Amino acid sequence: MNFSYFEGVRILVVDHDLRSTQFITSCLRKSRCQILIAHTEADAYELLSSQTIDIILMDVSMCDLDGILFFKQLKKDINTCMIPVIFMILGNELQDCMKELKLGAVDYITKPVYGEELIARIHVVMAHKRQTELLQEKNKKLSELAITDELTQLYNRRYVIQRLREEIARSKRHSMSLSCLMLDVDYFKEVNDKFGHLAGDMVLRELADLLQNVVRATDVVSRYGGEEFIIVLPQTDWQGAYYVAEKIREEVEMQCFTTNNIKITVSVGVAGFEDGNVIDDGLLIDQADTAFYIAKKSGRNSVVCFNELNNI
Ligand code: GH3
Ligand code: MG
Ligand code: MG
Repeated sequence: MNFSYFEGVRILVVDHDLRSTQFITSCLRKSRCQILIAHTEADAYELLSSQTIDIILMDVSMCDLDGILFFKQLKKDINTCMIPVIFMILGNELQDCMKELKLGAVDYITKPVYGEELIARIHVVMAHKRQTELLQEKNKKLSELAITDELTQLYNRRYVIQRLREEIARSKRHSMSLSCLMLDVDYFKEVNDKFGHLAGDMVLRELADLLQNVVRATDVVSRYGGEEFIIVLPQTDWQGAYYVAEKIREEVEMQCFTTNNIKITVSVGVAGFEDGNVIDDGLLIDQADTAFYIAKKSGRNSVVCFNELNNI
């Protein structure tokens, strides 16, 4: 028998009958799974709250509890509802259990239990559980990839737009300020021309790290495209955002990038709204963009704030 799906698995056997639990334990002895026995409802709840259980093998007609009621409680509880349950039933109980089987018991086995059959049924349930877990992990990775910029590992454009919309809704709801920085590397084409594209890529990666280190953990740093970055600063007014942008500009100017000690500068546009007055993501980005173009026109390596443009 192949026990590959049993290793390290924790099986909770809920059955009042001592002989039955002893028999199940002996059947599974070779499988290297861990067997936990509950002879009463209280024991079962105790084990479920203190251990991670992978599968429950449950006698539906325990004397001190209504097995089906117990099963329904498990399905209602967020901590236990995903644990696969195999019913152990007497042949004449099958009709009574039909509804529960449809409700989510993954399988049943009739008593008296045959060792080979028990092992086979647990094997199928565990194989299915493992495959589901693998699929969930893959889906999680895919979801992360969909919002991550491959080169810098920052959030990508798709994510930052979606997140900006969420932050706008939050800032409106709580009358909070919200700001945004649009940042672009000055004369980056020259870096590529002089040091090559790979060195240029490395500069972008190191710049991404610098940006992450300067801002707060609640700020959202993203690569908008090419050598352009957008940073969303929740609960930050434009003066605060201007301070962050200036700090970034100074640190970039001071840093030597890659082993070639490449020097770069950045131009940054700042826009911000206070008291939840932000209209939408398009306007916020447009304003940061306008300020950014003026920063470029005014000689680069500078920060311009849209909110101050009328004063310039
Ligand atoms: P400006 O100060 O006006 O922004 O000048 P610039 O040279 O940075 O601007 P321009 O738009 O002319 O060129 C952008 C350069 O950024 C050209 C492009 O090759 C480079 N670039 C964009 N994405 C990447 C990337 O992923 N890796 C590398 N190495 N270079 C990139
Ligand atoms: Mg540029
Ligand atoms: Mg650019």
